Amino acid sequence: MTNVTLIAGGVGGAKMAEGFDMCKEVELTIIGNIADDDEFHGLWVSPDIDTIIYTLCGKINRSQGWGVNDEGHRALDVLKELGNETWMFLGDRDFGLHIYRTKRLKNGDRPSDITHDISQKFGITSKINLPTDDKVQTRVRTTEGWQTFQEYFVRDKCVPDVLELHYEGLSQSSITPEAESSIVNAELIVLAPSNPLVSISPIIEIPGFKKALQNTNVPIIAVSPLINGKVIKGPADKMLASLGHRPDVLGIAQYYKDVISHLVIDEQDSRFFEDINSIGISPYSTDILMRDAMDKKRLALKILEIFCTLEAKA
Ligand code: GDP
Repeated sequence: MTNVTLIAGGVGGAKMAEGFDMCKEVELTIIGNIADDDEFHGLWVSPDIDTIIYTLCGKINRSQGWGVNDEGHRALDVLKELGNETWMFLGDRDFGLHIYRTKRLKNGDRPSDITHDISQKFGITSKINLPTDDKVQTRVRTTEGWQTFQEYFVRDKCVPDVLELHYEGLSQSSITPEAESSIVNAELIVLAPSNPLVSISPIIEIPGFKKALQNTNVPIIAVSPLINGKVIKGPADKMLASLGHRPDVLGIAQYYKDVISHLVIDEQDSRFFEDINSIGISPYSTDILMRDAMDKKRLALKILEIFCTLEAKA
C-alpha cells in the first residue's frame, strides 16, 4: 500500500481523485479546496468538496463533471418565483446536502467532521480532509471591480479579465490537524491538475501548509492542468495570462517551483522538458487528458510508476 495525499480543487481534482481511488494499491487522502465556498439562500455551499464527494460516491453528473446525476430544479424554480437570484445552479438533491451541512455548522460542528461524516454515509472509502476549518474565501478583482469567486465564475461565466486575487481570511486561518498529518504521513504527495491560482494556492498558502510541504522529503508531483497552453475546462489559462504568468506548462512549473519536485505534462508539451529541468523540476510526459474512468486510472498508475522509479533510485 502507498499512502498518497492528493491536493485537489473541483472538476480536475475530482477526476484525479477518482483515478487514485480506483487503484487498490493506494491508501488515498484528499485535501480539497474550501475557498470557493459561499452562502446561497441561507445555506453553506462547498462546490469543490461536493464535486469530490459526488464523484467518489458515484452520484456525479458525468456529462457536466459537477452536480448530481438525475437532478431536478423545482426548489430553485420556487426561489426564482419568489424573486431570488438563481444564477448559482443548485439542484433539488444537491439542496439536501447543503441543508445537512448548514444545520451541522449551526450546531457548532467542525467543517472537517461534517465532511468526514458525509463521505462515510455516502460510502466513500478514501479520506477527504479540509485544509482548514476556518473561513477562507477567494475574491476576484476584474475589470468590473471586486467580486466573490462564484459571481465571477458562475454568474459572469469567467468573461471579465482577472486583475487581482485575494484569499480573504487566509492569513488568520490555520491548517487542520488532519491535513497536517496527511502531509506528514504521505509517501507521495500529488497536486491534481486543478486551477493553480484559485484551487491549489488557497490550500497550500494556508499558514503552516507550505511549511509542512517543505518539511517532507517525499516526492511532490504535480499534474499540469494545461495541455498545449490550453485548459480542458475553466479559466486557468486566461487567469494565468492576465495575472502575468505564462499560460503553459512552463508557467505551471514556475508557479509551483518552491513546492514540487516533479511535473507530469502531456506528450504534446515535451518541447518544454529542458526549460522545466532548468528550474529544478523533473518533467515526465504522458497522455494527461482524462476522458473516462480508464484514463483516470491509467494516469494514476503512471504517477505511481514514476514514484516507484524514484523509490528504486533512492
Ligand atoms: P474547478 O474548481 O471545478 O474549476 O476544478 P479544478 O480547479 O480542480 O480544475 C480545473 C482545471 O482542471 C482546469 O484548469 C482544467 O484544465 C483541468 N482539467 C480538467 N480536466 C482535466 C483532464 O482531464 N486532464 C488535465 N490534465 N487537466 C484537466
